[in-house]
Amino acid sequence: MRFYILSIFIIMSISAQAQDKVVLVIHGGAGTILKKNMTEEKEAAYEAKLREALQAGYDALTAGKTSVQAVQSAIHVMEDSPLFNAGKGAVYTNDETQEMDASIMRGSDKQAGAVAGVSTIKNPIDAAIAVMEKSEHVMLAGKGAEEFAEKQRVTIVDSSYFKSDVRLKQLKRVQDHEKSVLDHDGDDRGEFDESENEFNVDYIEDKKFGTVGAVALDSAGNLAAGTSTGGMTNKRYHRIGDSPIIGAGTYANELVGVSCTGHGEFFIRNVVAYDVAALMEYSEMTIEEATQRVIEKQTEMGGKGGLIALDKDGNVSLPFNTAGMYRGYITENGKITIEIYDHQD
Ligand code: ASP
Repeated sequence: MRFYILSIFIIMSISAQAQDKVVLVIHGGAGTILKKNMTEEKEAAYEAKLREALQAGYDALTAGKTSVQAVQSAIHVMEDSPLFNAGKGAVYTNDETQEMDASIMRGSDKQAGAVAGVSTIKNPIDAAIAVMEKSEHVMLAGKGAEEFAEKQRVTIVDSSYFKSDVRLKQLKRVQDHEKSVLDHDGDDRGEFDESENEFNVDYIEDKKFGTVGAVALDSAGNLAAGTSTGGMTNKRYHRIGDSPIIGAGTYANELVGVSCTGHGEFFIRNVVAYDVAALMEYSEMTIEEATQRVIEKQTEMGGKGGLIALDKDGNVSLPFNTAGMYRGYITENGKITIEIYDHQD
């Protein structure tokens, strides 16, 4: 891919170490999220939703629920909002449909569940949890996953529930852009925009991202991680990204939980979520060291995106190599931190 573009990105991350134990961390997708392209209203709407998601997960934890239930509560809020590329706000495929993917993993016993390419499940994270808890499988896809979910009383909706004018417009823009790229003899770099310090084409490509994810640590010390997405705008051939793939988009063990967002193909090839856990387990890296190393590797390869990670002691790390990532976390005493842009923006 375009290494020369990516080499100019600085890896950005925030971390909150031990003194303030974090119990829940969430993301709402990474991409070219720049303050100058945001209205105050839009920014406030994202912040309010991220806050609501954190609060919902936190309320579950303080009510004594498990980390899986906290992840589910937080992801529900984002799946039910049209702001994020998951559930209600899922992006369009090339065929003008929605195909959603989701996964969940529980760290204590390494149980996991996932669904891929579903179009009628209101909250795909619920179906992933049902696969984990009520089947002997890890991943179900398409019609079979929908049939299983219905049997487990997961809420099914007509696929028209996911339609939206905003997302349809986004699809048209991406399609127009891709057509013009093809028309221009393979020169896909676009114009260099000095003010954005990147090629305009990336602006379009990054619009394809926007997955949601959550990692929680419950009062019993158990971690869980979950991810839910509509995938990438204009995807075709029933393409499936990293989000429902355990080890790529989602992973949890007794040490750490991870949820990723970004260009899924790269996250699959680098087995990103598991790589963080492996570096912590085998190389005894801290969460900060492991996540930085993994994102550096992604950047070197040309894979854009970010991840959220939470370890068993409540340390959090949220690195990304895009301009921004919707993200936030809540500590044991209920203090919420929300960020959208990198620290320099
Ligand atoms: N990782 C997702 C995918 O490739 C997209 C995203 O994170 O926005 O399907």
